[in-house]
Amino acid sequence: MKKLHIGGVTPFSTIDYPDNLSAVFFFQGCVFRCPYCHNSEFQEIKEPSYLLKEFVDFIGDRKGFLDAIVFSGGEPLLFLDELKLLCEISKENGFKTGLHTTGYSPERLSVLVEKRLINWAGIDLKADMDNYPFACGVEKNFFNETVKSIEILKQSGIDFEVRTTVFKEIAKVDLLKRVLETYNKLNIETPIFQVYSEQGKPDKEIEIFLEKFKSENNLNFVIRK
Ligand code: SF4
Repeated sequence: MKKLHIGGVTPFSTIDYPDNLSAVFFFQGCVFRCPYCHNSEFQEIKEPSYLLKEFVDFIGDRKGFLDAIVFSGGEPLLFLDELKLLCEISKENGFKTGLHTTGYSPERLSVLVEKRLINWAGIDLKADMDNYPFACGVEKNFFNETVKSIEILKQSGIDFEVRTTVFKEIAKVDLLKRVLETYNKLNIETPIFQVYSEQGKPDKEIEIFLEKFKSENNLNFVIRK
């Protein structure tokens, strides 16, 4: 029986696919080590133990109750074949499919896009170019790969969002202005600044900083808590 690199499941979510009820499957393994990571239990790749049959049974039982199946992580694109298979099965069963990705691999993302295997994607723009390695917690700078991934989604016509998690070390006016310049260059109408949260509680200081930054500079972005 085929086993998958799924490390966890959220059976019911209202926040992981905009305006849709979804279940979220978290893949193991991540290319990044973000300083603020809340999903660190999914960073390492372990022996696969989640049975494909469990997935098939799960979505079979939820037909008519959920709108979408979402794949998150970790980084789902690390296991492209498994991800493709799960997207195909979800679609055959009448669900929309969503993907949360770091955007580290435009090549892998384009495989899903070309096959129209995803209906929506959420992609992280972690920081400005200079601070990208720091915000991702790795040596390599993945800024250009991420920008390319965003371009692929833009050209695809697939619904997507781009968001930046603002944590203490990047909550700086000059840095965030440079991030907004990237949103602007990419013609993303609604930049999303996600307030870093600890155990589900948004950091109040960062929230206040972002509200002040927005009003004092008359900027257009969403503060997501
Ligand atoms: S990309 Fe996501 S899962 Fe990976 S280290 Fe960063 S926050 Fe954690």
